[in-house]
Amino acid sequence: MATRAADLLTLTPQGLYCPAGDFHVDPTRPVPRALVTHGHSDHARSGHGHVLATAETLAIMAVRYGEDFAAGTQEAVLGEVMRIGDVTVTFVPAGHVLGSAQIVIEQGKCRLVVSGDYKRGRDPTCLPYEPVRCDVFITEATFGLPVFRHPDAREETDKLIESARLFPERTHIVGAYALGKAQRVMALLREAGYDRPIYLHGAMERLTAFYKEHGIPLGETPRVLPEQRAKLAGEIVICPPSAIQEIWARKFPDPVAAFASGWMRVRARARQKGVELPLVISDHCDWDDLCRSILETGAEEVWVTHGQEDALVHWCLSQGIKARPLHLLGYGDEEGDLQTDGLPEPAAEVPSPSWGGPSRSEAEGRGGGRDEIARDPHPLPQIGPSGTRTKGGTPPTPGPSPRGGGEP
Ligand SMILES: [Zn+2]
Ligand SMILES: [Zn+2]
Repeated sequence: MATRAADLLTLTPQGLYCPAGDFHVDPTRPVPRALVTHGHSDHARSGHGHVLATAETLAIMAVRYGEDFAAGTQEAVLGEVMRIGDVTVTFVPAGHVLGSAQIVIEQGKCRLVVSGDYKRGRDPTCLPYEPVRCDVFITEATFGLPVFRHPDAREETDKLIESARLFPERTHIVGAYALGKAQRVMALLREAGYDRPIYLHGAMERLTAFYKEHGIPLGETPRVLPEQRAKLAGEIVICPPSAIQEIWARKFPDPVAAFASGWMRVRARARQKGVELPLVISDHCDWDDLCRSILETGAEEVWVTHGQEDALVHWCLSQGIKARPLHLLGYGDEEGDLQTDGLPEPAAEVPSPSWGGPSRSEAEGRGGGRDEIARDPHPLPQIGPSGTRTKGGTPPTPGPSPRGGGEP
């Protein structure tokens, strides 16, 4: 089985390639035929000959790159089995962003799932992840260390609403990625009953309009006009992560810099970015969800594309699952900064006690023992303007950002 799977999907300089179907999946360089899991720029690139993706992903690519992003396109309908060459291909929801899909590739009795990016946490803006039984599961491991535990995203948006209520004289400026994260934060705010306008930096406008056109209710989301900024005390503004440190943000009344990212679990990362209100909201699985998802697929073998590959591979082996890292380059920047950039920090700050993922039974029941697993010995302080208010004091100093940290 293992050799067959390795024949079904191989590694090329452009990324994962299926010789029997003559296509690449999420290629990082132009190829004749690409299957694309979702619209983030590290997976969906322009310049391919032909792209097969969900209608939403194709539309997102058109919004970002222009209508001529590929010579030809074809819509993949979720759940529909398509024959390509000597294999069949099915797109299945991945729960990551609007239109995101896992790609199931089958030949004979061998089934591989390329999950792309996926998550299990609540997201009102896209279809939830669906586990698919398979022989080989191909997964990312952006947050593949036991220290990464994402809280319920709703608790994080509650924190934001509460902070805005407590400090009506300040503007809350939330850094969030333009595709997916920004709209998820808005949707979660609406679910929590927040009914004031949510103001947008110009860079968030197009994709937010796109989400609304696709039936995601986000309420009133006006664009911030430059002369308006000084008058937005008490309001919430969503902007690209890079903008929270820019002069643009300083024109708001006593701004509270917030950042919605899984990386906000790492205190040093929040400090480095000058973030006063870190919001741990990720569109990727945390450690427990990675482990749980792998077990739910029943895969005998796991390939880890990028991120914390070694830790996840080690855990798979401990569970009797064959595993190997693929060390794919070119993925992983949509969460902000390339994940490797922060590695020394969590490793140094948070020694991970054994690779304590849930055991098979625990993961399946998602019960007990969860809190014992790799509890963060240095939890983030209860962060909020109440504790770290800087008005009249020294503002947090934004540290250097070695890799820029902007949206790719
Ligand atoms: Zn992504
Ligand atoms: Zn990605």
